[in-house]
Amino acid sequence: MSFINNWLRADIQALDAYHIQPAENLLKLDAMESPFSLTDGLEDKYLAHLSSADLRRYPSPDASELQQNLRKLMQIPAELDMLLGNGSDELIQLLCLACASGDTVLSLEPSFVMYKMIAKFTHLNYQSVDLNADFELDLPLMLAAIKTHKPKLIFIAYPNNPTGNAFDRSAIEKIITSSAALVVLDEAYYAYADDSFLADIQKYPNLLLLRTVSKIGLAGLRLGLLIAEKGTIKQLDKLRLPYNIGGLTQAAANFLLQENSTIATNAKIIIRQRGELSKALAAIDGLMVYPSQANFILFKAPKADELFAYLRQNKVLIKNLSAAPKLTNCLRVTIGNSEQNRQFISIVEGFYG
Ligand SMILES: *Cc1c(COP(=O)(O)O)cnc(C)c1O
Repeated sequence: MSFINNWLRADIQALDAYHIQPAENLLKLDAMESPFSLTDGLEDKYLAHLSSADLRRYPSPDASELQQNLRKLMQIPAELDMLLGNGSDELIQLLCLACASGDTVLSLEPSFVMYKMIAKFTHLNYQSVDLNADFELDLPLMLAAIKTHKPKLIFIAYPNNPTGNAFDRSAIEKIITSSAALVVLDEAYYAYADDSFLADIQKYPNLLLLRTVSKIGLAGLRLGLLIAEKGTIKQLDKLRLPYNIGGLTQAAANFLLQENSTIATNAKIIIRQRGELSKALAAIDGLMVYPSQANFILFKAPKADELFAYLRQNKVLIKNLSAAPKLTNCLRVTIGNSEQNRQFISIVEGFYG
């Protein structure tokens, strides 16, 4: 037996690593990245701004200028505070670290896989409630699970990944008021959704929001934020490692987040493209397209594994979810620009044609 197998916790050995697909020379429509660049035409100014970051020095400890820019971009009310993370993944981890060993984390299946992974490696008990056949929240089942498991933390992605839908608002409100848990609404896709709980945080002391800039065109930055009442942020901030947002990240974000109107325009384009792509997919015989409030579409396709392989042969990478329980024959495609979407749809049509 090797040293590491002997040494490492058995539950970590049993975990599957988060899998990232190789994407070299492929059109990447697998990870909800934006097809639009925020630096187009601004390259010189951008570089000048980046070079102003003094990398001999530790960065601003609370990234206060960046907080101001995020506040403006997302219209976060003055009564609320935020805590920044190296991606919202780091904030999911921070929330799990705030729990006591053995506490229960409750989420839904299928949903974002990191809730389960992080709960497991932070010594928490992970429980999940299945969505119904339409991927809607099963409220009675959820309330029963809350009663049985008495979770400390509940993660709900709103809209949900990988299904794309936003759950019924009144069901979520009922969950918030029926539980002593801290309820975390993960609004990674807020820019593409009709609704948000941002205005509800002050109503519910046990509600907080997660957001990220990853799905609005800045996945490479690794920047997420947790939004909550000031007292909540003050306590949770003790768990944040000092200077966790690097100086280059702060400099880049402070420049790029000023492009408010471009970010908003890009989101509108994606929403329009989402409508067109949904229609084009639904027009193909045998395909079932799920409604989406995000920058991706989930669809069920006959011979999904073969379609996925055929797309890859034709240099287009999407996400194959077919092996996951409840997602048999399901594939997820990120919305690209019109040219990329055309390329994708013509390959799918070619496969079935
Ligand atoms: C993509 C995604 C995230 C990850 O965000 P990062 O800020 O890139 O870590 C979090 N939650 C959901 C639901 C996502 O789909």
